[in-house]
Amino acid sequence: YHPSTAYKHEIIHYNPQVHTYTFEQSLLNDIERAMEEDELYLVYQPKVCPVTRKIKSFEALLRWNHSVEGPLSPAKFIPILEENGKMFDVTDWVIHKACKQISEWLETGKCTWHIAVNIPGVYVTSSRFKRTLLENTAKYDIDTKYLELEITETSVVSNIENAIRAMEDIRASGFTFALDDFGTGVSSLSYLKKLPISTIKIDKSFIDGVPNSRKDSSIIQAIISLCQSLDFNIVIEGVEVKEQVDFLTSMAERPLIQGYYFSKPLPAADVISFAEVFKNEKDSF
Ligand code: C2E
Ligand code: MG
Ligand code: MG
Ligand code: MG
Repeated sequence: YHPSTAYKHEIIHYNPQVHTYTFEQSLLNDIERAMEEDELYLVYQPKVCPVTRKIKSFEALLRWNHSVEGPLSPAKFIPILEENGKMFDVTDWVIHKACKQISEWLETGKCTWHIAVNIPGVYVTSSRFKRTLLENTAKYDIDTKYLELEITETSVVSNIENAIRAMEDIRASGFTFALDDFGTGVSSLSYLKKLPISTIKIDKSFIDGVPNSRKDSSIIQAIISLCQSLDFNIVIEGVEVKEQVDFLTSMAERPLIQGYYFSKPLPAADVISFAEVFKNEKDSF
């Protein structure tokens, strides 16, 4: 289509497929360079206990500052990378960066937290999962307990027996697993029994209505008491306001909270100073 040849009353329909194609292509062409040149990078969001003032871990979250498309959120680029088999290399890269980062934090002598990485379903059952974990923890000389691996039910459900086997093997090396976005997938309670996980992260969609919605509040309360009696750690995602923090501390003895109320995902360079402020300045939260 050339604008000069278009009749002036002609309606040109926008075809989203044309844009999707080029957007997809540009991501797929650029992903390797993006990893090498740190166009792809990680930001870190704390999971904290408001009662003990302890930071349990920082979750590593991917960002892409694309040279042409600009800053991209993972919701935009991860599905495309996943569909095109690119999340194997990207997850290797994430694990490598996370291990390097936690080793740097540990060297400061101030790090009392773990680091959490998101693991896509296809990666869980691949042979490189355990290999990459062990290679990088050895390379940076860090105890395997510092790595927490977040998986979702939805991503492992299609290959559940193999996923469980792989996870049990990896857990035997000292790594821990968290079940991410709990409540949004199949949420079959049988998975709570079968999966070798130590932490359950309750999805943001349940906390959004708290404390105003009685239904949401009851659901959160029920999930918390279930998780407590099963000896899981519980993290509540997406906590944005003080009323939600108060509700959760009245509900659980030591709730773990991840959300904008305490911190948005931070650049690595801001993590140590966040930890100091969080520990010392109780009144600012
Ligand atoms: P997730 O693992 O459930 O991560 C939590 C998401 O909720 C993050 O979005 C975080 O920024 C956002 N969030 C946290 N607290 C709040 C809050 O109080 N309010 C609101 N509105 N949002 C909050 P983000 O960083 O955009 O990541 C979205 C999803 O992309 C992640 O969900 C995860 O599934 C995926 N993802 C991110 N990084 C990676 C990665 O390195 N590998 C893989 N496989 N997936 C990743
Ligand atoms: Mg996560
Ligand atoms: Mg989550
Ligand atoms: Mg979520």
